[in-house]
Amino acid sequence: MKSKIVSVLLLLCLCLLLVLPSCSSFALYEKFYYDLFDTITVIRGYAKSSSDFEESCNTIYNELQTCHKLFDAYNEYEGINNIFSVNKNAGVSPLTVDGRIIELLEFSKQMYEKTDGALNVAMGAVLELWRDCREKNENKLPYEDELKEAAEHCDINGLVVDKESSSVYLEDRNMSLDMGAIAKGYACDRVTALLPSTKLTAALVNLGGNVMTYGEKPDESGWNIGVNSPLGEGNLFEVECSDLCVITSGDYQRYFVVDGKRYHHIIDPETLYPGSLFCQVTVICENGAMGDALSTALFLTELEKGMEIADLSGAAVVWVATDGTVYKNQRAEELIFAGDEI
Ligand code: AMP
Ligand code: MG
Repeated sequence: MKSKIVSVLLLLCLCLLLVLPSCSSFALYEKFYYDLFDTITVIRGYAKSSSDFEESCNTIYNELQTCHKLFDAYNEYEGINNIFSVNKNAGVSPLTVDGRIIELLEFSKQMYEKTDGALNVAMGAVLELWRDCREKNENKLPYEDELKEAAEHCDINGLVVDKESSSVYLEDRNMSLDMGAIAKGYACDRVTALLPSTKLTAALVNLGGNVMTYGEKPDESGWNIGVNSPLGEGNLFEVECSDLCVITSGDYQRYFVVDGKRYHHIIDPETLYPGSLFCQVTVICENGAMGDALSTALFLTELEKGMEIADLSGAAVVWVATDGTVYKNQRAEELIFAGDEI
């Protein structure tokens, strides 16, 4: 009997010896993509082997690429009805679309209400005028009367989303959608949802400033995310995250110059011009689509009202005003700064 117990214990020890090294055998891998959302994508993840990492990256990439195509307002792709197709069909007839488009459009309408209209995905007509000038880069601004005319076609109530038939209709022929303020954050959420089925135990995906983090590293720490200072070299702050998104909107990300003055890409629906209150807003929260929507909307919202919206949403937010002053709400204080000053 005694020898039986000894051999069972020995067997248990052997099993433990076999299992323990494999617990720490996860290595960190990294991969870059250059063809998604008009930006650079980085995937970092812990996996047991490079082939496990590659396989997981393929799964993530496929989802990101599908989102990229679905929410593209400027290109069409064979075999799919995307935002470009919806815009082309404005004033003509409802179009059947993928459930992801329905989901994000419904959420965008909610965020329009929550942000008092600062985030308006139906503002494509105005945004296109700014985009044209930025891309041509001919030292020219959109004409005032053109902007005002385009603003007549930005009423989000003209965006009709029918979940039952999975269709979308723009009632106004001159109206168009632009999902640039929210699509990358949503894509992060899609990745979050599929990560448990991949072979990565912890991962970070950075979609051009929209960062999602998943899980804890083998040493049980979170991912350290640095947010660049818009005021000079180095980081404004660093934050350790797991299962959180860190999303930044900045006036330095996309812009053009007219007569020596910079005009960036975040357009205030009230003035029809680039927002002038802040140069950077960073949002940290669990939901990527919400973080992305907020980063754009709070960029255009007076601080006091923005703080209210941030608190109601449970998001941590750090604002850098155009005069360089840094503001943060309570959750940001707790999550990021806990003791240090910036
Ligand atoms: P983000 O970098 O997330 O702040 O998004 C900026 C992008 O969102 C721009 O390039 C436009 O495509 C779009 N955009 C700009 N201003 C607005 C706005 N007020 N509401 C909705 N989308 C906007
Ligand atoms: Mg955004």
